[in-house]
Amino acid sequence: MPLIVQKYGGTSVGTPDRIRLVAQRLLETQREGCRVVGVMSAMAGITDDLLKLARDVAAQPSSRELDLLLATGEQASSALVAMAIGDLGGRAISLSGAAAGILTDRAHTRAKIANISPRRIQNLLGDDYIVVVAGFQGQNADGEITTLGRGGSDLSAIALAGALNADACQIFTDVDGVFTCDPRLIRDARKIDEISYDELLEMAGGGAKVMQSRAVEFAKKFSVPFEVRSSFSGASGTVAREETPHMEEVVVRGVSVDRKQAKVTICGVPDKAGIAGQIFGPIAAANLIVDMIVQNVSSGDTTDVSFTIHENDIEHARHILESIRREIGASHINARNQVAKLSVVGIGMRSHAGVAARFFECLGHGGINIELISTSEIKIAVVVAEEDIDEAARLTHESFNLSRLAPQAAVI
Ligand code: ASP
Ligand code: MG
Repeated sequence: MPLIVQKYGGTSVGTPDRIRLVAQRLLETQREGCRVVGVMSAMAGITDDLLKLARDVAAQPSSRELDLLLATGEQASSALVAMAIGDLGGRAISLSGAAAGILTDRAHTRAKIANISPRRIQNLLGDDYIVVVAGFQGQNADGEITTLGRGGSDLSAIALAGALNADACQIFTDVDGVFTCDPRLIRDARKIDEISYDELLEMAGGGAKVMQSRAVEFAKKFSVPFEVRSSFSGASGTVAREETPHMEEVVVRGVSVDRKQAKVTICGVPDKAGIAGQIFGPIAAANLIVDMIVQNVSSGDTTDVSFTIHENDIEHARHILESIRREIGASHINARNQVAKLSVVGIGMRSHAGVAARFFECLGHGGINIELISTSEIKIAVVVAEEDIDEAARLTHESFNLSRLAPQAAVI
């Protein structure tokens, strides 16, 4: 009998009615002849509410206590789903992450899964139970509850599908799948049928918010294919899997937009060995995540160094850089928030020339100035002024023929 893991996101279990729909769907899947494991997120908004409560009672809540608190959100939704299945005449049991055999390291609030012992789940499936597992959590070697970082129920589902050697893993959410661009921005953006893990990772890194990146990394590492699909319709979604040769026929799979960027430039930096290390060492020590880095060609014996960070980190970065600037004798620092990143992603770039030229030309024709460029093997990203980003995304999406109206591969 095939084994299927179905994960439901917060909006899918956001109200009692929706919980009953999820229960029905799990039950139908079982009645179609599958062994079924459900993985639940907390009801929409609950994790944020709990976090707010924690901050209302303590300026710096301990991470151990936070985990105990946050894990209750998923325990509530899974118990409710199991009850609803029972009410519909089915046989279901809910399990906390710990009871489901999910063992993690000790890093509270951002734990990594160390091991899964799926025996209990397997036994329950053998007894015809629908097993409903609380996502986002596990326990460490001391038996303490841990959580897996925001969005961590995705990771729970993928890891369980891997450990159980499931025949399918479905991630049910409030969108129809992964799109060629955010459909709120590009009205004729198209649902992608098939995407490689690497493309999905690059799109998530580029700002597309579909899946937790750690979950996709895990899926890639252990080769767990999965489908992202809507819990509000019966339509098939987007399958993420290892790449196949025909996937390379499409040059650009999608375009993603990240508005939450800030650009920092240190001007008049002495052009000599060791300076980059002196700049980025303290930035890394402060845990600020740097995305793009560009050093200009030096003029005389100084140069400019620019990089991008999350906009929330801009004041922190400015503070750290001010003392570095004095130390290394740089002239001044420019930092601004009003920038955004546009990325084009596709494994076909490896085998097709001309993607960068086409991308830059279309922005150029639109009169959009590019401030920074970075590339990987399967991605080209640019930073532009935030006011230009919508138009930049539209032009790029059109230039690579990604819309619904032209479903064929963009050919260069
Ligand atoms: N409830 C957690 C969060 O909001 C985990 C999840 O939904 O995947 O981040
Ligand atoms: Mg989520």
